[in-house]
Amino acid sequence: MIMTLEEYRRKRDFSKTGEPEGKIENAKDRVERIFVVQKHKATHLHYDLRLEIDGVLKSWAVPKGPPLREGIKRLAVQTEDHPIEYADFEGVIPEGEYGAGTVEIWDKGTFIAEEIDDNKIIVNLNGTKMNGRYILIKLKPSPRLKGENNWLLFKKEK
Ligand code: MN
Repeated sequence: MIMTLEEYRRKRDFSKTGEPEGKIENAKDRVERIFVVQKHKATHLHYDLRLEIDGVLKSWAVPKGPPLREGIKRLAVQTEDHPIEYADFEGVIPEGEYGAGTVEIWDKGTFIAEEIDDNKIIVNLNGTKMNGRYILIKLKPSPRLKGENNWLLFKKEK
C-alpha cells in the first residue's frame, strides 16, 4: 500500500476546516497500532473506519456502521488515506467544505495486525465497541458495485 496524503490534502482547504493537515509519520514497526471509527453526519450518515497502516490511517466509509457481532457483512468503501492525527479529530467541518457536517469519535482503540495485503486485511481490534477479529476483503467490480474501492467488513473469530 502506498503512503500518501496528497488526495487528503487536495480535497481540503485547511484555512477553513479544523481538520489536521497532518504529516506522514515514519512508518513505524509497531506491533500495537491505533484504530478509530468516526461517526460522520455528512450528506449521508456513515461511519469512517480508520486503521494505522504504513504511517497513515487507511480509511473506509461504512454506510451502515461496523458490525458488532459475527454473521453480519457490511459494505466498506475505501477513501483517501488520512493523517495519524486525524484519529483525535472531532468537530464540525464547515458548510461548503469537503465532508461538511459533524464528526464524532464512535470508537477508538488499538489493534494487532494478523494479515495486511492489497486485497485482504485481518486485524484483532481492542476497542470499546469493536472488539475481536475483523476481516476486510476487497470486492471485485461488478455491475451492481462498480469501482475498485468496495470492500466487505465483517467480524469472524477463528
Ligand atoms: Mn466521512
